[in-house]
Amino acid sequence: MKINIIGGGPAGLYFALLMKKHDPRHEITVAERNAPGDTFGWGVVFSDKTLSYIQSTDEESYRRITESFETWDNVDVVHRGQKITVRGNKFSGIARIKLLNILQERCRELGVDLRFRTNVADIGQLAATSDLLVGADGVNSEARALYAEFFRPDLSVRTNKYIWYGTHQLFHGLTLTFRESAAGVFAAHSYKFNETASTFIVECDAGTWQRAGFAGMDDEETRTYLAEVFGKDLGGQPLLSNNSKWLNFLLVKNTHWSHQNIVLLGDALHTAHFSIGSGTKLALEDAIALYRCFAQGLDVPEALREFERVRKPVIEEYQQAAYESLVWFENAKDYIHLEPLPFAYSLMTRSKKIDYENLRRRDPDFITAYEKSKVQSPKSKA
Ligand SMILES: Cc1cc2nc3c(=O)[nH]c(=O)nc-3n(C[C@H](O)[C@H](O)[C@H](O)COP(=O)(O)OP(=O)(O)OC[C@H]3O[C@@H](n4cnc5c(N)ncnc54)[C@H](O)[C@@H]3O)c2cc1C
Repeated sequence: MKINIIGGGPAGLYFALLMKKHDPRHEITVAERNAPGDTFGWGVVFSDKTLSYIQSTDEESYRRITESFETWDNVDVVHRGQKITVRGNKFSGIARIKLLNILQERCRELGVDLRFRTNVADIGQLAATSDLLVGADGVNSEARALYAEFFRPDLSVRTNKYIWYGTHQLFHGLTLTFRESAAGVFAAHSYKFNETASTFIVECDAGTWQRAGFAGMDDEETRTYLAEVFGKDLGGQPLLSNNSKWLNFLLVKNTHWSHQNIVLLGDALHTAHFSIGSGTKLALEDAIALYRCFAQGLDVPEALREFERVRKPVIEEYQQAAYESLVWFENAKDYIHLEPLPFAYSLMTRSKKIDYENLRRRDPDFITAYEKSKVQSPKSKA
């Protein structure tokens, strides 16, 4: 088969390498507009489940990823300067650039044709000369836009503002920090992804963003302002920019996942708010799901139909949980009056995928402390 893939992110690269490994006769080309060393963002997060899927599909990628990653099982919630730890949440983090380099290396070893600094401008022409064209071209996918009348995307720009930074302050475990300032409530999502650096995403509502005056600030002023808001948490370490810009989260869904021989994958196909995991995890799992449809011996139309049939319910469930989580963060100011323990409980159960019983199994000490806090201060019950 002649397979063309637009986009050398996690979705495009992992799909390319799995298909080539499965049948070396496939002619597979990945076109990526950036250079191999370019990347936006810092660390990415996986669950144990994602890693087990990687292990079962490409042991070598699994080995290289797990050599370079950080693992943790705690979520730390910092509210009013108090840190509440909730255990039993196993995750791993790796630098996005490291992950991309590993996948690029595996693609090269297997004979995938990687073309960097190559912008695909004529998608229709590429589709006409491919047996399969994969639009793994990210959240602002041009493939999705070009065939919008067939994919029928639903794009919703959310109200909160967020910005992706790094820092050399090390946050062991996923740390969710809330700080109130004169402008409003700020939340930071942070985690260590290698021995020297952590991801540090700051999020706030539109009113807070306006009152803080970010519209008139440049990169350095913004970082200085936020480093002050989170001064106690950053321990004097600066925030590091990597083309970091304020964004509004774009929630992407598509009614149809393929059109003729064209299929969307990863962020082009769907997004899920970063507060519940990561787009990287979904991108890799999409690649595995699509590959598995071809590995069953299905032809292109059958495989694309099967991919949508098996994967769509999984994504819909994940997006629902991510949506609940996103809405909680959009309304964080409504929970900020809670004492630290009920606040942490509300945060941990926000997606409705984790409930009281589930938390009790994960971390009985947390639930005991939460129960005690309700007795001591019944009014602050979540
Ligand atoms: C600014 C920013 C920072 C982020 N940082 C993090 C982070 O630190 N941690 C985390 O977990 N997630 C992060 N994310 C989210 C994460 O990057 C995505 O969820 C994940 O990478 C999705 O993988 P993907 O392969 O679907 O798409 P992407 O990784 O977005 O890859 C799509 C690729 O397609 C290429 N492309 C697009 N159009 C064309 C074209 N016409 N021709 C050629 N190439 C094209 C792009 O250059 C890009 O490399 C970040 C997202 C953004 C926007």
